[in-house]
Amino acid sequence: TYKYDYLIVGSGLFGAVYAYMAKQKGKKCLVIDRRSHTGGNIYCENVNGINVHKYGAHIFHTNDKGIWDFVNQFVEFNRYTNSPIANFKGELFNLPFNMNTFYQLWKVKTPEEARAKIAEQVKELGLSEPQNLEEQALSMVGGDIYQKLIKGYTEKQWGRAATDLPSFIIKRLPLRFTYDNNYFNDKYQGIPIGGYNKLTEGLLEGIEVKTACDFFEDRAYWSSLAEMTVYTGKIDEFYDYRFGELNYRSLDFEHAILEIENYQGNAVVNYTEREVPYTRIIEHKHFEFGTQPTTVITKEYPSEYALGKEPYYPINDEGNTELFRKYSALAVKEEKVIFGGRLAEYRYYDMHQVIGSALKSARETIV
Ligand code: FAD
Repeated sequence: TYKYDYLIVGSGLFGAVYAYMAKQKGKKCLVIDRRSHTGGNIYCENVNGINVHKYGAHIFHTNDKGIWDFVNQFVEFNRYTNSPIANFKGELFNLPFNMNTFYQLWKVKTPEEARAKIAEQVKELGLSEPQNLEEQALSMVGGDIYQKLIKGYTEKQWGRAATDLPSFIIKRLPLRFTYDNNYFNDKYQGIPIGGYNKLTEGLLEGIEVKTACDFFEDRAYWSSLAEMTVYTGKIDEFYDYRFGELNYRSLDFEHAILEIENYQGNAVVNYTEREVPYTRIIEHKHFEFGTQPTTVITKEYPSEYALGKEPYYPINDEGNTELFRKYSALAVKEEKVIFGGRLAEYRYYDMHQVIGSALKSARETIV
């Protein structure tokens, strides 16, 4: 007999949602996390009353009413709408690309004028079969938007010249011919009132949790505690990197507390020129319409991944995809381990997607 029905490795959204669903079915779970806190990448730290997104800015959005209702059981959401600003060499533009942006670029005022301007710029370049990301983007939006708002930002994100990046990275570049600065098209959007930790705490309420516990420090012991293991860590690490390491893009965050009330007037400002080393500055209080006397800002620097750094974005190129396939062929044969979440599945998931995936996995696997 086992002490628990499930050992859940990782207290991020996948692990926490799975644990919640298991508890609902009367199962006993132990959740462990190697970090000193729960929540995985949605974890926030309270600094002077401001929820600081420690692992990158998180904005919740979904079109799925079921998922929206699910999260709203635990926490209410505010009316935050993501409308980033782009700063290119001191010039400001609204994002995503919309009529405001086109006015700022060319002083065009009607959708017809904007469409004509973009069509003219695309035509001028005469690119028929784009060979790389630069040509792909140019053939969709023309020179001005590409040079001012896409090129530098993308090159910083990937650490490579846009002409050395494959065109598939940019499949679509949505252009909006209305004066609408809402970044997302989803029906539901917001930030949890009281912070993301409240969502995590709601999910994990009444469930045994141990933080600062690494599964790999004694995997035999941890595995012996429960009949089934739900593993949400890196899949290559689970198999001791036997086929090699999966690669990622990482980020470095530089947080600063400023003794002023309002630094940039918006939660997200992207720096789209290559020469500024960071891609964006986040001012956390604006996610919550904060009125505190001080503010916290975070500069985001894209970086190479190496063991010991945080693996943020999977790189879905051929080599990594092939490597992941090898690991996942082992994973599907495991009878006592369920793999889930962004690290075990080596794929980028938004929060609503990882919640949907955990709900599905729980429904299919908890008997
Ligand atoms: P994680 O949150 O990474 O949780 C995995 C947990 O497992 C971690 O806590 C880790 O410590 C633990 N763990 C790993 N290995 C072990 C081990 N050996 N032993 C014990 N514990 C272990 N989504 C949105 O919807 N909107 C956004 O605006 C948004 N912004 C993002 C910005 C950035 C920079 C990033 C990287 C992601 C963003 N996301 C956003 C995506 C969101 O972060 C993920 O969907 C979600 O956090 C994934 O949850 P998870 O449980 O799969 O993984």
